[in-house]
Amino acid sequence: MAGMEIPDFHGELIAPHHPDYDDARAVWNGTVDRRPRLIARCTGAADVASAVRFARDRDIEIAVRGGGHNVAGTAVCDGGLVIDLSAMRAVSVDPASRTARVQGGALWADVDHETQAHGLATTGGIVGHTGVGGLSLGGGIGWLMRKHGLTVDNLVEAEVVTAEGAIVRASADDHPDLFWALRGGGGNFGVVTSFRFALHPVGPTVVAGPVFWAAEDTTAVLRHYRELVAGAPDELGTIVRLGTVPPLPAIAPDLHLRPAIAVGCCYAGPVSDGLQAVGPLRRFGTPLVDLVGPTLYVDHQRSIDDTVPHGWHYHWKATNLTGLSDEVIDVVATHAYRARSPRSYSAMFHFGGAVARVPRDATAYPDRDVAHNIIIDAVWLPPEHRTVGRSETAWAREFLQALAPHRAGVYVNFLDADDDSARVREAYGDGTYERLATVKAGYDPDNVFHHNKNIQPHAISDEPG
Ligand SMILES: Cc1cc2nc3c(=O)[nH]c(=O)nc-3n(C[C@H](O)[C@H](O)[C@H](O)COP(=O)(O)OP(=O)(O)OC[C@H]3O[C@@H](n4cnc5c(N)ncnc54)[C@H](O)[C@@H]3O)c2cc1C
Repeated sequence: MAGMEIPDFHGELIAPHHPDYDDARAVWNGTVDRRPRLIARCTGAADVASAVRFARDRDIEIAVRGGGHNVAGTAVCDGGLVIDLSAMRAVSVDPASRTARVQGGALWADVDHETQAHGLATTGGIVGHTGVGGLSLGGGIGWLMRKHGLTVDNLVEAEVVTAEGAIVRASADDHPDLFWALRGGGGNFGVVTSFRFALHPVGPTVVAGPVFWAAEDTTAVLRHYRELVAGAPDELGTIVRLGTVPPLPAIAPDLHLRPAIAVGCCYAGPVSDGLQAVGPLRRFGTPLVDLVGPTLYVDHQRSIDDTVPHGWHYHWKATNLTGLSDEVIDVVATHAYRARSPRSYSAMFHFGGAVARVPRDATAYPDRDVAHNIIIDAVWLPPEHRTVGRSETAWAREFLQALAPHRAGVYVNFLDADDDSARVREAYGDGTYERLATVKAGYDPDNVFHHNKNIQPHAISDEPG
């Protein structure tokens, strides 16, 4: 396209006439159908800097694509420039310092593959094809967080291309205000071209997997679960999933798509301790199927990848919960199985442990005292968009509405496209939001990076003095 050659750019430029254009603009959520003017597939920080300067000089809107997983589809914009990091997926591990350098477009499967070769890991997402970039910048929750903290708690430093096109390093010593904001504030402050994470010995064999019970047992299972996790060791990470039994090869076909509650586990410690810790869960009631056992951590990390493939249609609603009271359990048991699509589900993460021991103001991820959240995932197939799509979306909204008295903030990375700026503020709380807005005014006063869950920069003229 005339006038759309980026100077000093070594990567690939993909314009609408390019044969790969449709693949390059597609993201994980198949409902997102945006047509950027140009996709700049970068090879490194220098390319990213060139692309940022190019777009700024021409006043072209910028979107930044890490793994392309954000449900709101913020990785692509209509008519603008996508800074596409998908060719920047290198991971290198330094076993001596127990750190890994990870490029900004890597996926969690890339990180797990390289780190587990050394028997190491850091807290990452629970689906291997999720991007490191967006997940890390929003906080990062996963199986290991109770033992090893959030992903942001393991961030040691980041290389960032700023809104000016400068390449800077952010750490506790360099640009500490930027470093604070990157640990929860999302893609508002620049393009992170590489992360360095602290690693920990994990596995390679861990006790992990789900136990499923029939949907009728939901209330009893959740009450038992509440007691179990309240006294659980930090090593035990659990996630509750309510929906239907996924059609995985490890599960007998006659159980597939049957309404069920599952508790997934991952014990980040010795196998014998893990088997002991999950014993009460496995012995509870009459499970439909129990898949918990010693397994490679790297296999556990990809075990549900196929249940949430690219291209299906997704709509999410999410909230942190004040607790797992009997009232909350009643709402969950009443609404969880009202979805029409057998692909829809909801999931509840359990926090506490190392997450709760980090002070609220140490990072831009504030809700450290929350013990449980819920994400309500309406899922349907593309041909069902006009039929099932509408009812699934309504189901998710009604479910969230029923939880209104029990809401306590929200994880920014679980917000969808129709979650407005008030919900972004809800994700941070006023204090953290205002501090982020101040940092944003320093690094991106013109809000160049706004195609995201946006932090509005404080106007410079508002600054005292
Ligand atoms: C199937 C699935 C499972 C998930 N599981 C988890 C989970 O276990 N834990 C969890 O915490 N979250 C989870 N999430 C949510 C996830 O954190 C967000 O979807 C996140 O945005 C994904 O990051 P991404 O790089 O793939 O996103 P993208 O869609 O590529 O990017 C989203 C936004 O992040 C910013 N961004 C991305 N990369 C960079 C970068 N390198 N530099 C600057 N800005 C960047 C941009 O603003 C962009 O608009 C899951 C999501 C899905 C779809």
